[in-house]
Amino acid sequence: MKVVDHIAKAKKSLFSFEILPPLRGHDIKDIFSTLDPLMEFCPPFIDVTYHKEEFIYVEKDNGLLQRKKISRRPGTVGICAAIMNKYGVDAVPHLICEGFNKQMTENALIDLNFLGIDNVLVLRGDLMKSENSFFAEKEGYKYAVELVEQVQDLNKGKYLDKTFIEHKESTLFDFCIGVAGYPEKHFEAPNIESDLFFLKKKIEAGADYIVTQMFFDNKKYFTFVKKCRSEGISVPIIPGIKPISSKKHLNSLPSRFFLNIPNELVKEVEKAKSKKIVSHIGIEWAIHQSKELKDSGVEIIHYYTMDRPENIYNIVQAIY
Ligand code: FAD
Repeated sequence: MKVVDHIAKAKKSLFSFEILPPLRGHDIKDIFSTLDPLMEFCPPFIDVTYHKEEFIYVEKDNGLLQRKKISRRPGTVGICAAIMNKYGVDAVPHLICEGFNKQMTENALIDLNFLGIDNVLVLRGDLMKSENSFFAEKEGYKYAVELVEQVQDLNKGKYLDKTFIEHKESTLFDFCIGVAGYPEKHFEAPNIESDLFFLKKKIEAGADYIVTQMFFDNKKYFTFVKKCRSEGISVPIIPGIKPISSKKHLNSLPSRFFLNIPNELVKEVEKAKSKKIVSHIGIEWAIHQSKELKDSGVEIIHYYTMDRPENIYNIVQAIY
């Protein structure tokens, strides 16, 4: 079922979360063992992130280093299929511009359609650690909006190459499309107005809903939603929440995601004497944020697990 239909038909407030495919060499059972306990709360859908290939350096026999491209976390589509098969829950694969040309994207979308996947979260893709700016693939896309347009084209039966296709007879896809939004602005955008301008372009191109970058102060979300609405963006805007689980997050999250962490939370985490206490503080903060969002009428909250789905259990248990 489409994400927007889950939201429209919900009789109570919902939650979703995202998981990362396991690291290469790890077992899918690790994913299942963290998902199993969450199933008692009936999540309507689960997102599965996509990770592009990275460069690694391997020492050769002669001592020289060889640069290799490798995907550390392959298997997004396989995990989606496994989730749907095991739990009967909708899986939402993340689809990125990076590493894909138009033809590869079309082939991937055909696979997703055949698997019975109804939703895709369309993104430009994270930068590699070694990159300062984004490079589009040859015959690929520079911005997520172009990828939204391709998904929409396929929703209308427009394939890239018509050699084998009579347009009238081609299968129409019906993907529900999610895109990313940034309450504290995307790091490259010169200002929030410019970022909202391009967010609106993604909606005009056919995106059905927005999932926000994580934020730790609900005021940022409320202001963002207000601005979106005044710009004429009327689609659901799903807030993204992440529980802090280590002291390192106080620096790594702002530097990686360009967001602010309220001083009150920073002080509490800094005072904590163990990792367990930090996790507890992070969970309590996320519970507080979730309660406030829920009380304000937010229909669904999305949780970032970033490889720690067990923390989400405690939050969901307190809220749903
Ligand atoms: P875009 O919408 O393309 O925007 C990128 C920047 O370009 C913004 O500053 C925007 O204002 C600007 N812009 C947009 N269109 C134009 C235009 N036409 N002309 C000029 N400027 C423009 N990354 C992954 O690699 N894998 C994942 O699974 C993943 N999941 C994510 C899930 C969520 C909910 C979020 C919020 C992010 C996720 N990301 C993921 C990270 C995302 O790929 C990065 O934040 C990326 O830098 C931007 O992606 P975007 O889709 O927002 O890009």
